[in-house]
Amino acid sequence: MKIVSINAGSSSLKFSLFEMKEEEVIATGLFERIGMDGSCYQIKYNGQVIQEEVELLSHTEAVKVLLDKLIVLEIIHSMDEIKGVGHRIVHGVDRYQDSVLINDKILHDLEDIKSFAPLHNPGAIMGIKAFKEVLPDVVSVGVFDTAFHQTMKEETFLYGVPYRWYQDYGVRKYGFHGTSHKYIALTMKDLLKKDNFKLISCHIGNGGSICAIDNMKCVDTSMGFTPLAGIMMGTRSGDVDPSIIPYVMEKEGKNASEIIDDLNKNSGVLGLSEYSNDLRDLVDACNEGNERAILTKNKYVRRIVDYIAQYYVLLNGADVIAFTAGVGENNIVIRREICEKLSCLGVKIDLDKNQTRGEIQKISTDDSSIAVYVIPANEELMIARETLKFMNR
Ligand code: AMP
Repeated sequence: MKIVSINAGSSSLKFSLFEMKEEEVIATGLFERIGMDGSCYQIKYNGQVIQEEVELLSHTEAVKVLLDKLIVLEIIHSMDEIKGVGHRIVHGVDRYQDSVLINDKILHDLEDIKSFAPLHNPGAIMGIKAFKEVLPDVVSVGVFDTAFHQTMKEETFLYGVPYRWYQDYGVRKYGFHGTSHKYIALTMKDLLKKDNFKLISCHIGNGGSICAIDNMKCVDTSMGFTPLAGIMMGTRSGDVDPSIIPYVMEKEGKNASEIIDDLNKNSGVLGLSEYSNDLRDLVDACNEGNERAILTKNKYVRRIVDYIAQYYVLLNGADVIAFTAGVGENNIVIRREICEKLSCLGVKIDLDKNQTRGEIQKISTDDSSIAVYVIPANEELMIARETLKFMNR
């Protein structure tokens, strides 16, 4: 049975076509610049890459072109082969503790909570509507980045602010990257052949979050009301003192949303290093003796270690630390430095095993007090699995 995982943004649509339950990737691709000049697509299948500029005025057109190309390229023989479409939705506030079968009522509700993720949810809604228009009878499932974190306790998700901000405006920690953290927990469950373990999942890519997981349930996570909170990221600041905002607004004559934009796009590794948001470039610059790069790398590592240490205490110990996403899967130096800073907890990294990229690998020594793993992220597969659950019901 074929299932498509969709990650739609306001002008893009990323897809992965799976054969389920086999979990086999048949094709992947990306439609970009939808509704803009120079719109194009790329489809990868069977070791080939097809790319073309094509006018895409809307998400619906992108979906039509996608299905047409899948047939022309003989990746599928007819649209009827696609039985389910799973959509990544960044924000589900506290209304969605799990994935959901999308109907008109849910779509209406998603419109209602759009303001919680104005940069992300509207794109997802466009993607959902486009598939509903082109494939009206196919099962459509929403998979929320926030859902996995809905097991956090009130004392964890509340901020120390007036309680009515929570009651009246929904001000609380929601957490993100939940689909990825859940995938890491499930992969560790398969590897360890049990589910009663304490896991600190480190999703560190351009965005990044750490998640404390006990018995397969999220206990705490580093992102907050928005994905701006937590560790320092590629271009996002992570946690800062909020009083900085009005102070810099006055200094630079900017408004609040311009400063938030700076905190999202011009801060983090890029802002501090004034060099690059890419950790590969940063590590290279460190090796060339660039002092600001060294400072930035140290700060980046420090913030991750801070959260791991915090969650170690919260979980009352940990069985596993797992690294995932671009940096976690590939950056040997950053992983080593994080693990070395955790040596006081008894973490011991195996330097040879750590020479790995993009594959499942245990990178701690046998006598390490906490097992450390690299697990490649696969949110697309997780979305396909969630979609499959509804087909089986
Ligand atoms: P993501 O947002 O998950 O795509 O992660 C982006 C980050 O992953 C960037 O900082 C890259 O430096 C890092 N990254 C991706 N691929 C590699 C690689 N092959 N080696 C080292 N770092 C990588």
